[in-house]
Amino acid sequence: MLNTAGKLLEMIIADRLEAVTESPAGLADSQFGFRKGRSTIDAIQKVLSTAKAAINGKRYHRGTKKYCVFVTLDVKNAFNSARWNHILSAFEKMGVPPYLRRLIASYFSDRVLEYSTDDGAETYSITAGVPQRSVLGPILWNAMYNKILGLRLPSTVSGRWTHRLIPSIATWIERRHGEVKYHLTRLLSGHSCFRSYLCGIKNDTSSSCPTCHPAVEDVEHVIFHCPRFTAEREELYRLANGPLEPETFVGFMLENERNWEATSSFASLVMTRLRSEEKARRR
Ligand SMILES: [Zn+2]
Repeated sequence: MLNTAGKLLEMIIADRLEAVTESPAGLADSQFGFRKGRSTIDAIQKVLSTAKAAINGKRYHRGTKKYCVFVTLDVKNAFNSARWNHILSAFEKMGVPPYLRRLIASYFSDRVLEYSTDDGAETYSITAGVPQRSVLGPILWNAMYNKILGLRLPSTVSGRWTHRLIPSIATWIERRHGEVKYHLTRLLSGHSCFRSYLCGIKNDTSSSCPTCHPAVEDVEHVIFHCPRFTAEREELYRLANGPLEPETFVGFMLENERNWEATSSFASLVMTRLRSEEKARRR
């Protein structure tokens, strides 16, 4: 239980924090929980309208129908695992004044958990967690998770890419062989150490291929064109009895297990090299 005077202080702090978190630099628009004038109903409505828009299109003749995937995550032990330093740095990025951040840092400090044992009461000092039932809890939690809601999600381009690779989901799902390993997933999704992807999420300064500058280093360039992987690619083309392209690549993999394994090792070689080049650039 938290004491009343403490709760009053929290209300004052919360009021001042909200002036920042509800400003344009504050919480992401897609944050619906614990905010004035918003509720989970709004979130549900957003999901419904996205789903409705996706299935509204027509299926045949250059179909405009889209896919809508719904993913839910349950954060284990959520409030207790909130990291204080992450909360404070989130507030700093939003522009919460230093005096308020110091106040919150002090609010976090010297917290102990008291519990009883057979040998009497014991204490344990706490370094993480948002106090449950506290006034500030929700706003602190929202601030820490804001970075995730503000992530720039890959645009529909990658959706189009995956669609080019796997036009028929059914054949993919009903395949008799083929374990989708880590590197293969990263290669097929295009969400990995490709410079165009890294650039899109602001983790690289240029999207150009280091060898084929000014060509863009995206997943298609790497699999089908870049001379850095000619030898590995030739091995696949030899098995396929000719060159492959995005539209025939997955069909080739699905043909038999040998092709699948060859593609999987191609993926490992390519992704490992791209990853080490990315690491070298960061140095
Ligand atoms: Zn290249």
